[in-house]
Amino acid sequence: MEVLLARENGFCFGVKKAVELTEAAAETGKTVYNLGQVVHNPKISERLAARGVKVIKDPGDASDGIVVIRAHGVPPEVRRQIEDRGLECIDATCSLVLRAQRFTKQLADEGYRVIILGTPDHPEVVGLKGFAGDDYVVVETKEEWAKLPKMKRAGVVSQSTQPPWAFRELVSHVAEIAQEMKVYNTVCPVTVKRQVAASELADQVQTIIVVGGKNSANTRELVNLAKMQGRTAYHIENADELQPEWLRDQERVGLIGGCSTPMDTLLEVKERAEELAAAVPA
Ligand code: SF4
Repeated sequence: MEVLLARENGFCFGVKKAVELTEAAAETGKTVYNLGQVVHNPKISERLAARGVKVIKDPGDASDGIVVIRAHGVPPEVRRQIEDRGLECIDATCSLVLRAQRFTKQLADEGYRVIILGTPDHPEVVGLKGFAGDDYVVVETKEEWAKLPKMKRAGVVSQSTQPPWAFRELVSHVAEIAQEMKVYNTVCPVTVKRQVAASELADQVQTIIVVGGKNSANTRELVNLAKMQGRTAYHIENADELQPEWLRDQERVGLIGGCSTPMDTLLEVKERAEELAAAVPA
């Protein structure tokens, strides 16, 4: 059995920067806190915990030292809380998320009702809501945006990991219900490339193994995409979760990781899949 790796894999630049900045902070010898899991990947969390990095939910949980803001970003008031407590702050918000925050604020300042495509409780969306003023709405599904009332001025942005087709559909719907519309496409091009690579993989195999944190939005999107293309998709976090029966009678399986999945985890899964396939009776 052959394991085909997708053409795009490994950390995206935003995750790479967030992990590197946290590791650099840990080198200083000061107490280092990540405000929430730095990226949605259990292996990375373990690696950072081994270096003494603590994960907190709220700046109030830190007494001294350095607080690292993760790639997903935070609302402005959380940033203020960090400063008010006199804590050192390292901002690892991805540049693309910062861009989305800027556009969201701009729309709110210009008097648009901000429509955010995303998962309401995802940390990145929680951050965006903090820039959206008082008049905003978060929608995630067609059913939700179909219920939006007619409005005068609508401004549309997206959580970075939403699929481009969903953003296009939302925008064309808002064009019908709003008198005036302003759109900022804040879907992350890196995740789009990863989704294209997943589609290409689906053209070559029937079964796709997707590796990444169960709470990683971009990883879950790869699973959805494979299923939408009629493929069997399994979502695992590490090689131990592989099941031999998934590989039975398969000539080839596809393998892809989310943007927060380290390359070494992916290669471990590849190696384990090949071992299991060799041991599975035909
Ligand atoms: S997925 Fe895109 S937006 Fe998110 S951290 Fe990576 S590069 Fe940045």
